[in-house]
Amino acid sequence: MHKKLDMKSTTRTVSPHKQVALVAHDHCKSELLRWVKEHRDALAHHQLFATGTTGNILSRETGLSITSLMSGPMGGDQQLGAMICEKKIDVLVFFWDPLSAVPHDPDVKALLRIAAVWNIPVAINRASANYLITSPMMTHEIDIEVPDYDKYLSERL
Ligand code: PGA
Repeated sequence: MHKKLDMKSTTRTVSPHKQVALVAHDHCKSELLRWVKEHRDALAHHQLFATGTTGNILSRETGLSITSLMSGPMGGDQQLGAMICEKKIDVLVFFWDPLSAVPHDPDVKALLRIAAVWNIPVAINRASANYLITSPMMTHEIDIEVPDYDKYLSERL
């Protein structure tokens, strides 16, 4: 059994205007596009980020303003992971493909792991994305619990 990290938590206040990351693997892109079209008005209140191909498709098809990072297999998932650590992403909608292998599977795992570490809500399919987008928390200022990194660092040595 591994020793658990002794991590205290602290509070992070998340604004009513969330920073939302959108990612879909190739076979799930049409599904995510359909979902984004359905929730276009709600999503327009937030600041949107996406991996490269996903972002280009979504902004072209919906007219939403989306900051596109690099394509997932070329590092886009890792860029999103870094943004989560830096508290620049509040919500992750990630339609990952449960039925086909992708070359960047380690990056997918890493993104999901770091979202769990920083207590970021994650939707992995239309049903969970519907719950998330219709939550009152999406449009209110909320406090979430996050690891107290400063304390962790100061006690490490
Ligand atoms: P893409 O990357 O939007 O560039 O296709 C998504 C992914 O595979 O993680």
